[in-house]
This record gives sequence, structure tokens and C-alpha cells, in this order.
Amino acid sequence: MHAPVLLISTDFDGTLVEHGNPAPFSSALGEVLLHLRGRGVRWAINTGRTLPWLVDGLNSFALPVQPDFAITAEREIHALTEAGWADVGDWNAVCAQRHEALFASAAPFLAEIIGFVERETKAEVRFTRHADPRNPTGTRDPREASGLVATDDREMDRIVAFVDTLRSQVPDFSYQRNSIYLSFCHRDYDKGTTLAELGRHLGVPRESIFAVGDHQNDLPMLTGTHAGHVACPGNSIASVKATVRAAGGYVAEAGYSAGVIEALRYYCRDLP
Ligand SMILES: [Mg+2]
Repeated sequence: MHAPVLLISTDFDGTLVEHGNPAPFSSALGEVLLHLRGRGVRWAINTGRTLPWLVDGLNSFALPVQPDFAITAEREIHALTEAGWADVGDWNAVCAQRHEALFASAAPFLAEIIGFVERETKAEVRFTRHADPRNPTGTRDPREASGLVATDDREMDRIVAFVDTLRSQVPDFSYQRNSIYLSFCHRDYDKGTTLAELGRHLGVPRESIFAVGDHQNDLPMLTGTHAGHVACPGNSIASVKATVRAAGGYVAEAGYSAGVIEALRYYCRDLP
């Protein structure tokens, strides 16, 4: 008998929505989520996207239902209120301070990564200020390197292998990978630890948290450590399926949002 699901954490791209499909989001999943929320279950979208980028996605994919919470950039928590998206406690402020301090102390290390990427690859390093149209300073300060985009998975494999050779220089440094995207972060922050914080905030125990995702950056919320009910859609990469199986979770047959419905039906047996 499963503990009741009280908090749902869904990845966005490749889990809720299928890029390239004329119907990227199953309206049946919208109905299931609305039904669960009617029972008091909370729903968070847990994504590598930044908040503005997620809001763009919610609009462009025309999701028929809005989440209660958004975990963005794999580390920030926002609640949807009547006044719009709002921080939850001081988590985001502390998170920002800790990242600023980490990146400042890691400047020589980040400069080495940038040098390698520019010398040896065609990948593009992303800088925080470049991503902010209100502050287009054109700076290439290593302390503001937020991540990078490779041209293909093999190139990203090479870059990650290089970064891993240097990791011991800065023990608090980590990264989140999602195919050709890599974002730099503090090792205390990922989709799993941030989801656990949301659970603490809501008073929902690990046993009643459900998490579903398809890619590498979803792994921290799918190990069973932070969510008692874990799942992945059928389109997930092999390491995600293996992690979900190892945690005793549910690997759906169906892909994308149809797979999410399948997993929710597995854990919530009384769904209509
Ligand atoms: Mg995904």
C-alpha cells in the first residue's frame, strides 16, 4: 500500500510536453491534475528552465492548468499567488548568495573551463548578464559563467569529462546536464534537494512526494532519497529508467504526458 500522494513534482520538457508533436500535452493529464488538486494535492513543475522561460513554455504549449509551484533553474522555488509568482521564504535569496560566493571563489576554475571550451570545442559558454536583456554589458567575466550549450551530445561528453578532471579544485562546484545543455551550480542544489525543501515548507513527508522526469538533471529527484514515489515516461534516457527501477519506482510504457498519467494511476489507484 502506497502512502497517499500529496505533492507532485513533474519535469517540463520531455516529460509534460513533447516537442515537435502537434498535441504536445495530453489534455487527459490536465484533467487528472485538476482532479488531484481538487483533493488538495499540490503540483510543482520542476525544471531546468528559468522562471521567465518556463512562463513562456506554459503559454506557448497552452497548458490548460497552471501549477501551484515552479522549481526553476533546478534550484529556485516560486509559488503561484493571486499577485503572480512569489518567492517561498528566503530559499531563493540564500541560494543566490551562495551561488555568487561560489562562482567568485571558483573564478580561476571557471576560466580554465571557458578556455578549454573555446579552444577545443564549438560549444557556447553562457554568461548570466548575456541572458539578461536589461543588462547587455557583453562581459565575459568567468564569475558570471552560468553554463554552456554544446553542438551535440558527444561534444558535451568531452566537456563534462574535462570538467570532471578539475572538480576536486572546487569541492562545492557541481553541474546539471540535460543533453547538450550544462548549467553550473552549487552541489547542495538540484531538483531533488529543492523538491525536499518544498516538501518541508508544505509539511509533506518524503513518502507522499511523487516525482517524474526523463533526463540527467532529473536524476537527483528520482533516486528515492527525496521522493517516495518516483517514475519516468517511456521516452526517458537509459540512466533515468535504471535509476527509477533501482529506487523501486515505475517506468511507464507510454511516453511524455501519457506516461505521466500512467505513473499517476499506478500510485493513485483510486483515480477515476
Ligand atoms: Mg526533461
